[in-house]
Amino acid sequence: MGFTRRQEGALVYFTGDNISVPHAFTTRLGGVSRDHLAALNLGFHRGDDPERVLENYRILCAALGTAPEQVAAAHQTHSDIVLPVGPEELGAGVTSPRLPECDALVTATPGAALMVFTADCTPILLWDPVTGAVGAAHAGWRGTAQDIGGKTVEAMARLYGCRRENIRAAVGPNIGPCCFETGPEVPKAMVAQLGPGAEEDIRPVGEKYYVNLKALNSKLLRRAGVENLEVSPLCTACRTDLFWSARRMGDARGSQGAMIRCMGGIQ
Ligand SMILES: [Zn+2]
Repeated sequence: MGFTRRQEGALVYFTGDNISVPHAFTTRLGGVSRDHLAALNLGFHRGDDPERVLENYRILCAALGTAPEQVAAAHQTHSDIVLPVGPEELGAGVTSPRLPECDALVTATPGAALMVFTADCTPILLWDPVTGAVGAAHAGWRGTAQDIGGKTVEAMARLYGCRRENIRAAVGPNIGPCCFETGPEVPKAMVAQLGPGAEEDIRPVGEKYYVNLKALNSKLLRRAGVENLEVSPLCTACRTDLFWSARRMGDARGSQGAMIRCMGGIQ
């Protein structure tokens, strides 16, 4: 178990081995965007030509057996808002106007594809094989400190009757503990959320700290009742050959995405 690298044509993406419905943690490889946005930029607000971004969606969606009109994309603001997606929301943020502010999406609507964006932040995809419900969360350090992963699990349980122990989680490529250097505000927020147990995932170096968002998000998901968890070992800031990294590239960069499709429950 773990993560698997997949390639279709020029498109390269990763999947969690514990999730059997179509999903992807994208890389920067396989799209049609140019120059500093080359090649797979999925952000419509990165200064890219919207036609190229839409074509990037078509490429990704085709690999997952869907279409841009079936995608609901988060409207992220580093909040802890989880938004349920139904048939009315499909296409939002891609082929129709964007959703209200939210940093996580959940759905039990067969055919719906959920999408969150990252460029160092932590993407989390969730799947309940029994009800078929899925979730997608964007966890920056603020989202992590607000337990957005746990709140997404909670929304799946409350809205769709998922049993938490059935939910499988994949924590995708993000900025690793090798590169996520912070001031004291980040460790402080993590300890406030998780208690002193968070300290083992924070390494002080001089006046700075190196924070392990993979481990912290894993702890939060386990605390929410998730038992089946896969975590990508890849660091977006170390691997700018593969990924967009806000830390390394600043604003002159594209966005990667994490997408998951709802395929309905066990029949
Ligand atoms: Zn790194």
